[in-house]
Amino acid sequence: MRPERQALLAAVVGVSPSIADEAVRTDEEAGFPQESFAHLRHIGALRATLPESLGGLGFGYGSDGAVDLLKLFQELGEASLAVARLYEAHVNALQLICRYGTRGLQIRCAEDATAGELFALWVTDPQDGAAVLRSCSGGWRLQGGKAFCSGAGVATRALITAATEHGTQMLVISLEPGTRVQPNTIKLSGMRAAITGSVDLAGMQVAEGALLGAVGDYLREPVFSAGAWRGSAGALGGLTALIKLHRAEICKRQRGADPHQQARFGKMVMAHETARLWLTQAALRACLEDESDAAIVAYVNLARLAVEDACLQAMRLTQRGLGLGAFILGHPAERICRDLATYLRQPAPDETLTDAARHYFHANLPGAD
Ligand SMILES: Cc1cc2nc3c(=O)[nH]c(=O)nc-3n(C[C@H](O)[C@H](O)[C@H](O)COP(=O)(O)OP(=O)(O)OC[C@H]3O[C@@H](n4cnc5c(N)ncnc54)[C@H](O)[C@@H]3O)c2cc1C
Repeated sequence: MRPERQALLAAVVGVSPSIADEAVRTDEEAGFPQESFAHLRHIGALRATLPESLGGLGFGYGSDGAVDLLKLFQELGEASLAVARLYEAHVNALQLICRYGTRGLQIRCAEDATAGELFALWVTDPQDGAAVLRSCSGGWRLQGGKAFCSGAGVATRALITAATEHGTQMLVISLEPGTRVQPNTIKLSGMRAAITGSVDLAGMQVAEGALLGAVGDYLREPVFSAGAWRGSAGALGGLTALIKLHRAEICKRQRGADPHQQARFGKMVMAHETARLWLTQAALRACLEDESDAAIVAYVNLARLAVEDACLQAMRLTQRGLGLGAFILGHPAERICRDLATYLRQPAPDETLTDAARHYFHANLPGAD
């Protein structure tokens, strides 16, 4: 591993206990994890996933970078799923900017990330009032808004999608803290510290230089689907936390010699390792892009579902093994299960499975060509 990336990972490990402590408080308050992001800013994590040519450490680039980024997400997810979710959006936005942006936009956004600005990624449209981009004198103007926006009111930069008459356009906007957040009518039971709300973009003026890529680029494969591996990597961290917690509690209650508890724990370790192995391969395929788009997308889609299955199985086993204790408000297993169950609700899981199945009906099986 490159020494600078090793140092950054060690720094993340160093601040993890503090991030984990804040996860308890911010869940109760449904508040943004300010201290955690102050730590991440301080150690340089907000710029770490930029390519080296833009002042980053190259997490997510090349095979070593893929594995290192997986470790980074796993570490953050273990400390706090909400922090991993917010960081995942930041990384996703920067990756898209580095792929599709003009050199000018790339440099500007890299400078912003280096200066500690937090990027969000808001692409989900509300049922009514989807974001629309219309040309006006001197540039563009937005109408409507976005839904399920993590970091709403805190992120100072956001990559958003908006409809134009020719298709979906990405753009990068700047926001003042506390502005444009709509009164929160939807309250999620988990991931409360990701402060996922609705954002009103009506009337926002957008300069030509804020447009990112061409119409339709956001949906271009393999990036559109394959990027999901990073969210799964955060979830894997939550799974790691849950399994360690389960083990500690079973040992504390001196129930580890019971064969039923042993069988449950064995299955949990299998689920965790299955998820980790799938994700390592998914990360490599997504970051290296050395297969066909269809093969990358199908593999990562299945990896995403394999991680979902592993997490759901582990939650069921921990709830059975710890009993009612895992449902007591304030018990860490209760919070992690609530966060994990919410985080796993990612778009279109049915389609993800059937699309991948259709691919493998006609293509070589992974590792068996
Ligand atoms: C913690 C958290 C933070 C988030 N933050 C952000 C954010 O910052 N920015 C952002 O843009 N989004 C965000 N999202 C939203 C996210 O990207 C997804 O849009 C959302 O999670 C999809 O949820 P869903 O389960 O309702 O999906 P759906 O896709 O509606 O799936 C629900 C079920 O319906 C099925 N289904 C889907 N479509 C059809 C159909 N046409 N016919 C029949 N069945 C169908 C699915 O397979 C699934 O079983 C966040 C979500 C979470 C959980």
